[in-house]
Parts: sequence; C-alpha cells; structure tokens
Amino acid sequence: MSLRYITRFAHYDAKTVEEATALLNKYGEKAKPIAGGTALMDILKKKYLPTPEAIVNLKTIPGLDQVTEDGGAIKIGALTKLVDLAESSVIKSKCPMIADAVNLISSPQLRNMGTVGGNLCQQVRCWYYVKADFFCYRKGGPVCYQPGGDNRYGAILQQKVCNAVIASDLATTFTALNASLKVEGPGGSRDVPIKDFYVTLGNTLKQGEIITWITIPEAPSKGSFKKFKIRKTWDFAVASAAVATTSKGTIAALGGVAPVVVSGTPDEVTSALGSATPLSMNKYKVQIAKTILKEAMA
Ligand SMILES: Cc1cc2nc3c(=O)[nH]c(=O)nc-3n(C[C@H](O)[C@H](O)[C@H](O)COP(=O)(O)OP(=O)(O)OC[C@H]3O[C@@H](n4cnc5c(N)ncnc54)[C@H](O)[C@@H]3O)c2cc1C
Ligand code: SF4
Repeated sequence: MSLRYITRFAHYDAKTVEEATALLNKYGEKAKPIAGGTALMDILKKKYLPTPEAIVNLKTIPGLDQVTEDGGAIKIGALTKLVDLAESSVIKSKCPMIADAVNLISSPQLRNMGTVGGNLCQQVRCWYYVKADFFCYRKGGPVCYQPGGDNRYGAILQQKVCNAVIASDLATTFTALNASLKVEGPGGSRDVPIKDFYVTLGNTLKQGEIITWITIPEAPSKGSFKKFKIRKTWDFAVASAAVATTSKGTIAALGGVAPVVVSGTPDEVTSALGSATPLSMNKYKVQIAKTILKEAMA
C-alpha cells in the first residue's frame, strides 16, 4: 500500500556550498540535498527509501546554474536546469550531442524543473526497488528480486548483486565525453572522473558531499547520442549509446544495460556486448544495444 503523504522534515535553503555541505554532514545519512525535486519528491511520497529528517535546498546557492567555456573545456554547473542545458549556446555550438541527449529525457515539464546534478544522482528505476514493500540488496536487504521475477528491463552486463540499470542519460553522454565531476564536501573538494563515479549500488559521494560542476575537457570533433525507448513520448532508455571523438581518441558509452555506464573504445564496448549475460526475459536488449551503438558510431 502506498501512503502518498509526506512525512515531516526540516528544510534548509543553503546560501553557499559550504553551508549546504555542513548541514548535510551534520545530519549524516538522515539528510538529502534537493535540487529540482523531480526525483526526490517521488521518493518522499512513495516512501520506498527512508524519509530524511532534513532536506537541504541547493537551488538557493547562486552561480551553479551556468554553462561556460573555459579555454577548450566546457563547464556545466550542477544546478543548470535540463532545459537550459539543451538551450545553451555553448552546448548547441560546441557539443550538440548533449542537447540531443537532454531532449530525449523525460518531458518538457520535468526538464524545466530537473537539474544536471539531480539527473546524475537519480536512483535506479527497478520496479521492485521503487516499491516500499520490497527490501532488496540495493536497500541493504538480503535478495535481488529480478532474477526470479520480472526482469524485462534489467541489466545484460556487469550484474553483480544488483540487476538494475543506470537511468541517467547524462551519465552515458558525459562518460563518452570523458567528463569529470567537481565534488565538494566537508573535507574540501575533489575531481572525480565520471567513469569512476558510479559503482554497482550507487555512486562514490561521501557523507556531506555534493556535485557542483561538470567539466568536459575538450569539445568533440564528432559526437552522437542515440537512445532506444519503448514509448515515443517520455521514457527511460532500454539502451542508449554515446560516442565522442576528440584529439585523445574515441570513447563509446552504453546506458540502460548495466548498473553502471559501460564504456571504453568502440571495439571494447562492442566486444563487451558480444559476451553479454542477459537475464531470462531480456535477451532482446542485446541486439537493441548492438544496433544503437552502431547508430551512434556511424
Ligand atoms: C516521469 C519521469 C521520466 C524521466 N525520464 C528520464 C529519462 O528518460 N532519462 C533520464 O536521464 N532521466 C529521466 N528522468 C529523471 C529526471 O531527469 C530526473 O528526475 C531529474 O533530472 C532529477 O533532477 P532534479 O534536479 O529534479 O533532482 P532531485 O529530485 O532534486 O534530486 C535527485 C537526487 O539527486 C540528489 N541530488 C540532487 N542534486 C545533487 C547534487 N548537486 N549533488 C549531489 N546530489 C544531488 C538528490 O539528493 C536526490 O537523491 C525522469 C524522471 C521522471 C519523473
Ligand atoms: S535489481 Fe537491484 S534494485 Fe532491483 S531488486 Fe535487484 S537489487 Fe534491488
């Protein structure tokens, strides 16, 4: 049974990154940052994760909603709304594959609210996970329900304890673009290559840390994002592929196929798909992923 009322919590409007990270650190696991709220509010209503005691609003921090060029690099503030990212003149002229990816994310209403940082940190959409009644590995429980249950949209690669797939289309896109994330917390700031950010059961953010900036080191000379989804309106990826070429070479990245983004050279990613390990109901995803990768490489 889902009780769609929201349990009480303290709400803070952070004015600086330091204030936000100090508050998050003070409450520890009992606090959550909020940006656009399009993903977090759903969790608060459906209660499939514990309701935090404190919510720290990041949108009141000025300056983190910009897209700029810095030498040859592109810098994207974590509070940039998805719609503003797609409309940015820097993105349109230097890296249109990002705008292509954003325009395939959810609906115009959600892109008007949702932010880049929130997109990167959203939870998986496994339909056991998003129900309060199921206590699976990802919630600290003893079991994964997908192998013995409905696994149509589950992982076909790199399953360890969890068979859910990464939901963020920007994670796939930024991985192909070799992006790094600026992460700030009570202990200072660090730069994390996006390919090292995601782990099987989530990401590598430590207590009190938030993403503040995304840096794409070099605009690609050629880049493409392709996504296969079931519905023609908004939908998450059954499989997505991003491929980008810079002076350092070509990186291919696949989303929707594993708990993390699968990336490498185009040959490495093609070969990974050749030894995919689909579940009982999702063998069809292997061919879709191969095709979408070929389209992105064309
Ligand atoms: C119906 C629907 C369809 C969707 N379809 C797609 C899709 O096709 N592709 C896709 O990629 N996404 C899709 N999404 C996800 C959507 O893009 C995200 O909901 C949105 O980007 C989240 O941004 P937000 O700012 O609203 O995040 P919030 O809801 O505010 O936060 C989401 C999570 O990120 C954390 N967080 C937020 N900002 C930061 C930060 N700067 N640092 C650290 N943690 C942070 C929050 O604590 C929370 O856990 C869909 C969502 C919905 C509801
Ligand atoms: S796939 Fe992952 S999120 Fe889904 S039930 Fe299994 S452990 Fe939980």
